[in-house]
Amino acid sequence: MSPATILNGKMLSEKRLDLLHDEIEKSGITPCLVTVIVGEDRASQMYVRMKHTACERVGIESEGLEYSAAITEADLLNTIQRLNQDPDIHGILVQLPLPEHINTGHILRAVAPEKDVDGFHPVNLGLLLENEPGFRPCTPLGIMTLLAEYGIDPAKKRAVVIGRSTDVGKPIAALLLNADATVTICHSKTENINAYTKEADIIVSAAGRPHMVRADMISPGCVVIDVGINHVDGKLCGDVDFDEVSKIASAITPVPGGVGPMTIVTLMENTFKAALNISCKHV
Ligand code: NAP
Repeated sequence: MSPATILNGKMLSEKRLDLLHDEIEKSGITPCLVTVIVGEDRASQMYVRMKHTACERVGIESEGLEYSAAITEADLLNTIQRLNQDPDIHGILVQLPLPEHINTGHILRAVAPEKDVDGFHPVNLGLLLENEPGFRPCTPLGIMTLLAEYGIDPAKKRAVVIGRSTDVGKPIAALLLNADATVTICHSKTENINAYTKEADIIVSAAGRPHMVRADMISPGCVVIDVGINHVDGKLCGDVDFDEVSKIASAITPVPGGVGPMTIVTLMENTFKAALNISCKHV
C-alpha cells in the first residue's frame, strides 16, 4: 500500500496567510482583534501569543487584554460590553479555559455575534446547525479547508468524530453533516469505538488522548484527522499513533503541523470577515 498523503496544514496555512495579507492590504481596511485572557495558564498564553504573531503577519491590528484570575464575572462582562460597543474592534476572542468561578457560557454569550470570530456564540452555533451563514469555530472550519485543499469531499462518506466538545467535536460533526457526510459522534461513554472507526472513511479525533487511535481501529484508505494536542515525555503528540496509522490511512494530518496552524489562519480569516462585516459560510 502506498504511504498516506500528509495533509500539510502548516504549508497550507502559510499560503493562506500570504493570500490574506495581500487581501487585507488591497482592502484598505485594518481589521482589529482583541484577545482576552484570564489567569496564568501557560498553554493559553502561548496560544494567544501565536494568534498575535499571526495578526502582525497579515496586517491585523491586535490587542491582548490580560486579567488576573481574581477578576469577577461582572467585571469581565463589563469588559466584553465595552469591546462590543467599540466600532474600531472587529473581533473578540476570549481564550478558554476561564477560571472556575466564571461561567464560561455567560461570557461567550456576552460577545456580540458579529464580533464572535471564534464562532462559539449560540447564535453562530445555531446558524451552523441550520447551515446558514455565520462564524464557524476555527478548528473545525480549518479542518474543512484542509480537506478541500486536498480534494477530499466528505459527501457520501462515513465520518466518525471522536469527541463531543462544543469547540471541536460537535461543530466538526455539523460541518461534515452539512457537507453531506454520514456522521457518527463517539465519546467517552461510547462502547466499542473500534466498531465505528473500522467502518469510517474519515475519522476526526478530538479526544485529547495520546495514541488512542491505533492502526487496528481503522480500515485501509481512511482519512485521519488528528486534532489532539498532548504532551508525552516533553514531546508534543496527537491522538493518533501516527507511525502505524500512516501505513494504512490514505491521508493523515501530522501533529504538529496539521490542524493547529489551520486553526490560527482560520481565526485570521474570520477576523477579516468581521471587519468586512460578512460572516459568510464558506464550506
Ligand atoms: P474536551 O473538551 O476535553 O473534549 C474531549 C472529548 O473527547 C470529550 O467529548 C470526551 O468525551 C472525549 N473523549 C475523551 N476521552 C475519550 C476516549 N477515551 N474515548 C472517546 N472519547 C473520549 O477537548 P476539546 O477542547 O474538544 O479538545 C480535544 C483535543 O483537541 C485536545 O487535545 C485539545 O488540546 C485539542 N485541540 C486542538 C486544537 C488545534 O487547533 N489543534 C484546537 C482545539 C483543541 P466526554 O464528552 O464523554 O467526556
